[in-house]
Order: sequence, then C-alpha cells, then structure tokens
Amino acid sequence: MSAFDVVVIGSGPGGYVAAIRCAQLGFKTAIIEKYSTLGGTCLNVGCIPSKALLDSSHHYYDAVSHFKEHGIDISGEIKVNIEQMIARKASVVDQNVSGIKYLMDKNKITVFEGLGSFEDATHIKVSKADGSSEILEAKNTIIATGSKPSTLPFIKIDKQRIITSTEALKLTEVPKHLIVIGGGVIGLELGQVYLRLGAQVSVVEYLDRIIPGMDAGLSKELTKVLKKQGMKFYTSHKVKSVERNGGVVVQAENAKGETITLEGDYALVSVGRKAYTEGLAADKAGVKISDRGLVEVNDHLQTNVPNIYAIGDVIKGAMLAHKAEEEGVFVAETLAGQKPHIDYNLIPGVVYTWPEVAAVGKTEEQLKAAGIEYKTGSFPMKALGRSRASGDTDGFVKILADAKTDEVLGVHMIGARVADLIAEAVTAMEFKASAEDIARMSHAHPTYAEAVKEAALDATEKRSIHM
Ligand SMILES: Cc1cc2nc3c(=O)[nH]c(=O)nc-3n(C[C@H](O)[C@H](O)[C@H](O)COP(=O)(O)OP(=O)(O)OC[C@H]3O[C@@H](n4cnc5c(N)ncnc54)[C@H](O)[C@@H]3O)c2cc1C
Repeated sequence: MSAFDVVVIGSGPGGYVAAIRCAQLGFKTAIIEKYSTLGGTCLNVGCIPSKALLDSSHHYYDAVSHFKEHGIDISGEIKVNIEQMIARKASVVDQNVSGIKYLMDKNKITVFEGLGSFEDATHIKVSKADGSSEILEAKNTIIATGSKPSTLPFIKIDKQRIITSTEALKLTEVPKHLIVIGGGVIGLELGQVYLRLGAQVSVVEYLDRIIPGMDAGLSKELTKVLKKQGMKFYTSHKVKSVERNGGVVVQAENAKGETITLEGDYALVSVGRKAYTEGLAADKAGVKISDRGLVEVNDHLQTNVPNIYAIGDVIKGAMLAHKAEEEGVFVAETLAGQKPHIDYNLIPGVVYTWPEVAAVGKTEEQLKAAGIEYKTGSFPMKALGRSRASGDTDGFVKILADAKTDEVLGVHMIGARVADLIAEAVTAMEFKASAEDIARMSHAHPTYAEAVKEAALDATEKRSIHM
C-alpha cells in the first residue's frame, strides 16, 4: 500500500494547485482524478474552452461587423467553420491539460487515474477504469471534487437539444434559436458565443435582472449592450416547462401570471452548479455533507474530521477557479503550520462577454443594506482616447469609497479588457488604498486603465480630468 502525507481528490484548479503547494512545502503528495485528463471542470469544460470559443467568435464578429469601419475590406463571404472552431478549442484544452501533467511530474506528485473513495479517515480506494483498485494511506486528505451543472427538477437534460454548458462547448452546428435558461455568467458567455456566430439568442431569467449577484449598474449596462447586439431578454420570468418537439419548447410565466412560449432548436440550461461528492463515500470517513450537498468546513477549511480538508466548488462560497486555487494554497500552508489568510471580499468576479464585466469588493446594494456611507466616482469608457481608437466605447468604471476615510470599498467595471483591469482594484484594496491613492498614481496613456484613475479622481473630489 502506498502512503502519502497528503492525498488530493480531484485535479481541478483547487486540487492541482493544492497538490503543487503541498509538494513545494515538502509533503509526499498524491492526486487522484477520475477522468483521463487533469484540470477538472475549469480546464476541460469550463473557463478555458469557454474563453477559447469567446475569442474565436469575437474574431468572427469583428470581421463581420467592424473590419469595414477600420478600413479592412475582405472580398467574398466570411463564413464560420464551426468544426474548426471547436477543434481549435479542443487543442487549446489539450495544451492546458498536458501542462498540468507536466507540473505534476515536475513537482514529483504521484497521479492516480480513477475514482477516489474513502474507506475510512486515513485510507482511500482508487477504482480504475480497468476494474482494478488500489488503497492509498493518507495522513491528510484534501477533497477537491468540484461541481457539476445543476438543473430544475422538471427539466430533463437530454444532452442533444436540452443541454448544459458542457454540450454547448462542442456543438456541431450554430443553433438557429438558442434559448438560454438562466441569465448568469455561464449562460451569457455561451449565449454571446452563438449570438456572434449568427444564432438568435433568448435569455429567460427568473430574477428581475441578469448577473443578479453583481452591482445593479453593471447589470443594467450589460443588458443594454447585449440587447444592442441582438440578444433578447425575458427577465422576471419563471420557466415552467422545457420540452422536446424535434427542437425545444420553453414555457415561462411572468410576474402577472402570463405564460410565454419560446420555440428554439437548443435550450441551454445554465441555472447554476451543484457541489459534487458522488462516489466519494464521505460517510465512510465520517465527513459531514450539508443538506445542500456541500462538504462542511470550518474557517480553516477543515471538515469535521480533523485530517480531512475541502476546497473549491465542493464547499461554500463563489464557484470560481481562482477562489479554489487560493483555498488550495491555504490548506497546504495550514498543513505546514503556517498562518495563511484569504480575504473573500477581495476575490474578483468576472464575466467574459464583450464588453467584459469585472468587480471586486462591495456593491452599492450591499453598502446600502449595511448602512455604510459611501461616495461614488465613475467614468465612461467612451471618454477614453484608447476606447475611441479601438472602437470599444461601451461601459464604465465605478469606484465606491468610504464617505469619511476615502478607503476603496468596491470597484465595478464594464468595458474592454476589464477582466485584466480588475487586478489593479484588487491590489489597491489589498493594500487598503484610498480613492485618492489611485487617483495620484500615473496610468499609462492611452490605456483602458486610465478609466480607473479617472473614476478615482471623480470619487476623490469630483475632479476627473476628461469629463
Ligand atoms: C462553462 C464554464 C465556464 C467557467 N468559466 C470560469 C471562469 O472564466 N473563471 C472562473 O474563475 N471560473 C469559471 N468557471 C468555474 C470553474 O470552472 C470552477 O469554479 C472550478 O473549476 C472549480 O474548481 P475545483 O477544483 O473546485 O473543481 P473542478 O474543476 O470541478 O474539479 C473537480 C475534479 O474532481 C474530479 N473528481 C470528482 N470526484 C472525484 C472522485 N471521487 N475521485 C477522483 N476525482 C474526482 C472531477 O472529475 C474533476 O476533474 C466556469 C465553469 C463553467 C462550467
């Protein structure tokens, strides 16, 4: 029987990062992954393939919609080759997952391919595809088994026409009418991919706005821009049924009790994700799973069994790759006797539509609810030289700062490349910067980042230069 200081179950961004940090800290480490490729949801069917398709479809959309105004004439018809687009995405995924294999080897982490299930608190069985199995002895275990798409009780996902994000990443045709159920990040990103490629896209959302967890100002602006691009929205609509009729028929009810019927060829069910612990046999180790299916952990990410920890999508909190990564490092360092810390308020949230949406810290709604007095500074992208040069003039940056101390409490952005710009806000907030601190820093000209400085100037003394 092989024995390890740490066994990590699941090789997503939580698991593989935890394994690397454990190995760096000198632990004899193993990782178990039930699939033949490492990297979990994020690399195989999440972050990376969705961004590959967003980038490809963006190129096509630019060629069709913007090249002409930039003085680029293309003779002949510009066509989508969906097979090539999906093949390129697959090759991007391959490069990334083999990168993880390389990192495992480099860090001398033993990789086991198979389903990991507890025998007891210190023994884990690896059941392999060929029917054989092996028992590992683990001083400590990190559960990083992630999540799977969830659905509504009355919807039967057939993976052909009624699909989840996993199938939407490998369609063999551009839908004529894609009905997206759920106006959150995943639905909007994949909806925009197919919108750009020529599909009609309708988004049905139960709440009164899309990206409901983010600042209402971002939600309003994104709705406006996506509508302009042709996406249709049915907010405050509760989906009642999703049926096959060759294609799909979706029925939803609005607040007045009126029913609408949408007919399409695909329905993408993107109503969130649920923690995944199937086959883990957590009960054999005595690990508590909550009513919602999450592995329960304390502030040290330790389960009720002292030598078993859990991280990432399988525990409470935002389902984000970088949150899972931070937690992986946190547990490894805790096991090494260090005193790590994660400030969950400073985990940024990003939507990779175009314009991109990014935020960190508190929203206006949260500050109001908490009774915190704040001031607002904002700056529209259209007033930037860089935005005019590229033609990406939608969006704004908004900074919320404490009314008395000027400390930055939240930064909310929509516009070109804000997924990258949000890092400045995270850095500033990590160091407890005031809006004036940001306002006094030099920002290269011309860049989209100047909108951050201008919004900070606006928050400081309403003295932005270019507005
Ligand atoms: C379409 C889509 C787009 C996304 N885009 C982004 C994005 O842009 N940015 C972002 O931050 N997040 C994004 N996410 C979310 C992100 O993918 C997850 O938050 C992240 O993957 C969670 O990491 P994890 O390590 O907790 O779990 P996962 O990545 O889900 O990995 C868990 C792994 O554990 C394995 N496993 C499960 N049970 C067992 C077992 N018993 N034995 C062995 N192996 C097991 C699974 O096979 C899987 O490989 C996206 C998700 C989707 C679906």
